[in-house]
Amino acid sequence: MSLHSEIAKRRTFAIISHPDAGKTTMTEKLLLWGQAIQRAGEVKSRKTDKHATSDWMSMEQERGISITTSVMQFPYADNMVNLLDTPGHADFSEDTYRTLTAVDSALMVIDGAKGVEERTIKLMEVCRMRDTPIISFVNKLDREIRDPLSLLDEIENVLKIQCVPMTWPIGTGQHFVGVYNISEDKTYFYQKGHGTEIVEIESRDGYDYPDVRERIGEIAFREFEESLELAKMAHEDWDVDEFLTGKQTPVLFGTALGNFGINMVLDVLTQYAPAPKDHDTVERTVKADEEKFSGFVFKIQANMDPKHRDRIAFMRVCSGKYEKGMKMKHVRLGKEVRISDALTFLAGDREALEEAYSGDIIGLHNHGTIQIGDSFTEGETLNFTGIPHFAPELFRRVVLKDPLKSKQLQKGLQQLSEEGATQVFMPQINNDLILGAVGVLQFEVVAHRLLEEYKVQCTFEPVSIATVRWVHCDDKVAFEKFKKKAHDQLSVDGGGYLTYLAPSRVNLKLMQERYPEITFSATREH
Ligand code: GDP
Repeated sequence: MSLHSEIAKRRTFAIISHPDAGKTTMTEKLLLWGQAIQRAGEVKSRKTDKHATSDWMSMEQERGISITTSVMQFPYADNMVNLLDTPGHADFSEDTYRTLTAVDSALMVIDGAKGVEERTIKLMEVCRMRDTPIISFVNKLDREIRDPLSLLDEIENVLKIQCVPMTWPIGTGQHFVGVYNISEDKTYFYQKGHGTEIVEIESRDGYDYPDVRERIGEIAFREFEESLELAKMAHEDWDVDEFLTGKQTPVLFGTALGNFGINMVLDVLTQYAPAPKDHDTVERTVKADEEKFSGFVFKIQANMDPKHRDRIAFMRVCSGKYEKGMKMKHVRLGKEVRISDALTFLAGDREALEEAYSGDIIGLHNHGTIQIGDSFTEGETLNFTGIPHFAPELFRRVVLKDPLKSKQLQKGLQQLSEEGATQVFMPQINNDLILGAVGVLQFEVVAHRLLEEYKVQCTFEPVSIATVRWVHCDDKVAFEKFKKKAHDQLSVDGGGYLTYLAPSRVNLKLMQERYPEITFSATREH
């Protein structure tokens, strides 16, 4: 198959939802339909394995947080689907943000009884920044849900996106009959008790059948007809271009637990969601179907396999093709590397990868040389943009219990900061190590992992830093002058970049006014 057609059949997406809306269940059923697993239930049991083998993850799990981003690839119809899992907890939003830079579309899962929830609103904001096309799925139709019309109203008003219902539910809860596909004028019938396996879905033309009326009752049937008419009238006509620019979202109904409506999501995804998009670099725009390989790292994850204590860098392929054993240029280091042990991910398992195309996610073994945002190419100097590190808002001084272990501590902090959830800062004025994070929980995770993985015991102390800014200036003389003046407040971050540790917002503002030629940036972007 040609490079072009391989790329054209790729669909790379992530699920965005509020905790408990059904993301995990949905993921599992998508894998079932993609035949990546044979029976639902396998993904959960794998979660339990991890629980047993990895302590720090179990700590996360006790708190009900999933921080194991997995990447899953499976075929569906004539397409190759890449599903990227996003961590659920708000503390890891930076990670989620970067994961969303690696997808071409997103599936929004909404709990039909609860409607639009807070976390979904935040994730939609992120998607909107990049005009990511969104497919919506209203879940839990096997329970009593809210009036579908008011749900769509809420999505439109709160999330500022036009809804186009593709299907419309007939009954809910005990009386959930199935969904009526509006454009096909066909009803698909829900069968209870097939949540874990694939069964053929019965369908009939139209919706008006005596047994349907009987199952939901005459009154509910009339209500269904009325709401269907309103749904058709009140919403815009389907326009693929509006979907591709993030202005319209197709809405589908179903139940992830009951394994109903999942294939309809996959049908919409494969039919309408975009193939791999082009990506901007500092140098030029990279087209997805260029011959030559390129990609960027959006995530680094440790302990994928606790037996090996290894760290995997996840790379989104942005153009061309990866082939086992190929040479790549690690652009930041200006070094050529031969990659023969890249990984692909199937339902949480990993496998040696033979080839991959634009749109795919590949895993690289990271021995400490790869950082988030790094670009890899077939020789050209390209630096992909839009993969930021955000300035942390919380800071602690790291206090070591055993002073002889400062080497291990430094190494541990450095490596953990490469994963991107925390950042480490080394002030110029002393030998302190300052840890920055966006959520308090991360400090605990770091302390726990330092002990487990680096055998270093440490505690944290408060420190008077309000925020950090990465500083930069093209005028060397002006920069030197600033560096002298601000010496006590300057530090180097884990990536070797100069940062200003501001003791207060007011101080930062004053410095910005006093040194207008210096750029103070709140994100560090590659
Ligand atoms: P996540 O936090 O978004 O990953 O949500 P989960 O997939 O873990 O689901 C949260 C809870 O909702 C679990 O108890 C699921 O069994 C349940 N759930 C998920 N989908 C459905 C559904 O379609 N119907 C019903 N009744 N429950 C569901």
